[in-house]
Amino acid sequence: MKKPLGLDQALKIISETASPLPDRAYPLLEARGLVLSESLEAVSDMPPFDKSAVDGFAVRRTDVIKGHCLDVIEDVFAGDVASHQVVTGRAVRIMTGAPVPAGADTVVMVETVREFLSETNRPQIELMEEAPPGSNICHRGEDIAVGDELLSAKTCIKPEHIGILAGQGYVTLVCHRRPQVAALATGSELVPANQTPGEGQIRNSNSIALMSAVENLGAIGHDLGIALDQESTLREAIRRALTQDVVILSGGVSAGLRDLVPWALREEGVEILFHHVAIKPGRPVLYGVREATHVFGLPGNPVAAFVCFWMLVRPLLFQLMGRDPVENRPISAVWKGPNMAAFPLRRFIGVAWNETSNGAEVTPVPTRGSADLNSLARSEAFAVIAEDHVISSGSSVEVVRLQEH
Ligand code: AMP
Ligand code: MG
Repeated sequence: MKKPLGLDQALKIISETASPLPDRAYPLLEARGLVLSESLEAVSDMPPFDKSAVDGFAVRRTDVIKGHCLDVIEDVFAGDVASHQVVTGRAVRIMTGAPVPAGADTVVMVETVREFLSETNRPQIELMEEAPPGSNICHRGEDIAVGDELLSAKTCIKPEHIGILAGQGYVTLVCHRRPQVAALATGSELVPANQTPGEGQIRNSNSIALMSAVENLGAIGHDLGIALDQESTLREAIRRALTQDVVILSGGVSAGLRDLVPWALREEGVEILFHHVAIKPGRPVLYGVREATHVFGLPGNPVAAFVCFWMLVRPLLFQLMGRDPVENRPISAVWKGPNMAAFPLRRFIGVAWNETSNGAEVTPVPTRGSADLNSLARSEAFAVIAEDHVISSGSSVEVVRLQEH
C-alpha cells in the first residue's frame, strides 16, 4: 500500500487553492460570524454628548463643598435638554443618560445629598459628601471619537461589534460572502432521511449532518440529494453541484467496484489534488478543484465523514470566509485511555474532556468504529495520535476540541 499523504501536507494543498471570497453587503444582524473585508472608521462620537453616568445633581465643581446648600432649578431626564444653565449656587436634578446642562462640570450622586425645601418652599440640596471635580460625567467622544478606527479589517463580527456598529448608525456591513456549499450523498443503498429504508437500504444521514455543520460555521448548505453508484446519474449530479463554491460528496471514494466518485469527478473536469490521507478514520478522502469550486469526496461512514469535515473542510470554509482557523490548533492533555501500539496513520479518537487540578485529561469514548455516530456525539474532543507513535496511559496527547466557534 502506497503511503498516503500526511494531514499537514493535505491541509497545505487545500489552503494553497483558496483565498477569501469576494465581499458583499449584509444587514447588520446577518453579519455575525462573518469577517470584515475592510476596516471601518467611527462616524459619530460615543457618547454623542456629555452625559450623566448616574442619577444625581449637575453642579459646578467650585460648589462641591461638604455642607454647602444649592437651589435645584430644574429636572432633566434622559432624552431631554435642560433649559437653564447651571451657575454658582444652583443645581439641576439629572437622570442617568441625560445631557449635562451648560455650566455644570460635575454630577453628585443622589445618594450623597439631602433634599429639603427652603423656608420659601424652593427645592434645595445639602451636599453631604465631597466629590472629585468632573465626577460622574461621560464626556462626548470618550469611548469612540469620530475618525477612530472602529473595527479593523479581518475582524470576525460578534454581538458586541454589532452593538458598536448599531451605535454608529451602520445598517449594513461589507464582509467576505458566505460560501455556498453543496452536499451530495452517493450510494445506491441510500434513501432520503424522510423515507423508510427497504431491505439493504439505509437513510442518508450524512448530507443533513454535513449541511448543519456547514451552516454552524456561517456558510450556506444546499442539499443536492442522493446520486446512485451509477455513472450517468453520478456525473449529472456532480455537474449540478459544481456551480457552488464548495462541493462535499460523501461515499464512493474507497476501493469498492462501484466507488465511482474519483472517476466521475475527473470526467467532469475536476483536477484531483489528493486522494487518501494518512488519517484514521477518513483515509480515502479526496480533494480537487475545478475553476473556483473546491471539491471534497468524503468517505461514507458517518464518523469518517465528520472527521474529514472537521479536519479538512472546516479550515477551507474558514479560509473562504477570511477567518483564522485557530480552532484546529491542538492543545495538550493527559491520556487516560489504554496503551496504544504504533499505527501508520494519524488516529482521531473521540474522547471525553475533564479539567482536573492537574490539568486536562481525556478518556476515550467507547466506539464500535467509523459508523458509530453515537459515540462521536458523546465526544467532546478528538485525541490525535500521530503516525507511528505509541501512547501509554498517563502520557501527554494532542487534542482537538470539538467546540463550535
Ligand atoms: P462508502 O464510503 O460509499 O463505501 O460507504 C461506507 C459506509 O457508509 C457504508 O456502510 C454506507 O452505507 C455508509 N454511508 C454512505 N453514505 C452514507 C450516507 N449518506 N448516510 C449514511 N451512511 C452512509
Ligand atoms: Mg458507497
